[in-house]
Amino acid sequence: MSSRPLILVTNDDGYYSRGLTALAEALEAVGDVAVVAPDREQSGVARMISLGRPLRARPRGPSRWTVDGSPTDCVYLAIHNLLPRPPALVVSGINRGPNLADDVTYSGTVAGAMEAALLGLPAFAISLDGHSPFEFEPAAAFGVRVARLMLSRSWAPRTMLNVNVPDTKGAPVERFVWARGGRRDYGHIVTERLDPRGRTYYWLGGNRLDYEPVEGSDCDAVAAGVAAITPLDLDLTHHALLAELRDVDLPGPEKS
Ligand code: MN
Repeated sequence: MSSRPLILVTNDDGYYSRGLTALAEALEAVGDVAVVAPDREQSGVARMISLGRPLRARPRGPSRWTVDGSPTDCVYLAIHNLLPRPPALVVSGINRGPNLADDVTYSGTVAGAMEAALLGLPAFAISLDGHSPFEFEPAAAFGVRVARLMLSRSWAPRTMLNVNVPDTKGAPVERFVWARGGRRDYGHIVTERLDPRGRTYYWLGGNRLDYEPVEGSDCDAVAAGVAAITPLDLDLTHHALLAELRDVDLPGPEKS
């Protein structure tokens, strides 16, 4: 058995995305790579987990599987069943497009890393703020550096890193900052149209995403051509608000 660390790779763009291939190939320099990824695009599925239907995993080669489910399904299934030993690190990406600020709440890519973090494993998500045709190699090389760091020290439980890489047009990623999550502006666009049968349908979101400037944020960094690494805490409790609410009672029940 290999003494190299086992690294699990997943994503939400699907097994056949070039971002995943570039990442998996680059991580071979760090450890033994296993890939368990969705068999089709799952972008925007966030933390969806399949509890009410069977899942199928299809071998695609040595240490390679596709699963007809979400990134969360993939990581859960990989760690609890498919892999011969627990991975030392779980990496999700490289996503086509950034996962900045509030994107982390929608992203299937980030969700894959979250599942690993909840299972007690070091994990990071990595996304490329590029445009087609995406050049993933610089981001993959940056991911190798993050992987080496993650394997070299211990991390607080239930935490993960969210990595966003700017489009360097193929040049190496030279600058990075530790950043806080910023604030996205999604434009709140709903397009309402009629389908060919005359029924109304809605299409959420537009083409352009913006952001509000927030000092030290991931959005600001990537817009300036600097990679951003944001530590995320999966404890979603707002502890200050909890303390503030401790003695607050609810209004009494209505008298009927
Ligand atoms: Mn995606």
